[in-house]
Amino acid sequence: MTSVDATLRATRTTCPYCGVGCGVLATPDGSGGAAISGDPEHPANFGRLCSKGSALGETLGLDDRLLYPMIRVSKGTMERVAWSDALDHIAHRFAHIIKRDGPGAVAFYLSGQLLTEDYTSPTS
Ligand code: SF4
Repeated sequence: MTSVDATLRATRTTCPYCGVGCGVLATPDGSGGAAISGDPEHPANFGRLCSKGSALGETLGLDDRLLYPMIRVSKGTMERVAWSDALDHIAHRFAHIIKRDGPGAVAFYLSGQLLTEDYTSPTS
């Protein structure tokens, strides 16, 4: 269990994992993590979170997180590249797969809440 300094304020946010969009209270623990709880005032969940949402705090560490684009250059070898090169590479690979196997060969799996904060930031 994460220990939380009671003087740190909780931030109201939204669980990113599915289209329900449960309200979350994230309270910084002072060392890069946060204690997570359901927002009792949010109309989607009234304070409750499922097991995925409850585990959001376990995903905040940067130790095993990819922080910049990498492309596999050989088996077991990854190389850091610029975002523009990574996006060009992805577009090229998608175009190749679609040309070879048809448009049904590619799909995206996204969450309805994945970009909530990203959408909100530039419009606020
Ligand atoms: S807490 Fe569970 S039900 Fe709520 S948005 Fe997250 S994944 Fe969906």
